[in-house]
Amino acid sequence: MSGTVFSHLDKCLREHLATLVHLASTGDDETAADLARSELPRVVAAVKALLDEHTPDDHGRCPTCRTRWWRRRLPSPCRAYLTTQLCLTVFDDGPSGNREHLRRAS
Ligand SMILES: [Zn+2]
Repeated sequence: MSGTVFSHLDKCLREHLATLVHLASTGDDETAADLARSELPRVVAAVKALLDEHTPDDHGRCPTCRTRWWRRRLPSPCRAYLTTQLCLTVFDDGPSGNREHLRRAS
C-alpha cells in the first residue's frame, strides 16, 4: 500500500523535527551551537523550497495551490505560505520564546 511509504516518510520527518527541537531546548550550549550550524541551514533550505513553491504571484495567488478546487476564492496567499510566515515571523514571548537576538538583528 503506497500510503504506508508516505506515512513512514512523514513520521520520519516529524520525528527528525521533534529531535531538533528537543536538542535545541534541552541540550547544552555546545550541542545547541553545533545543531544551529549543522541543521539550521538545512531547515532553512527546506522552508525556502516550500516558500518558493507557494510564493504569491502579482495577484496574491499561489502558483501551486491555485489550480486546485479553491481557485475561485478571493486572491490571497495560500495557507501554506501564510502559516509559514506566521510561524517564523510572529514574535511570541512564550515559555520557550527567547528571540531578543532576532529583534536586535533586525
Ligand atoms: Zn500554496
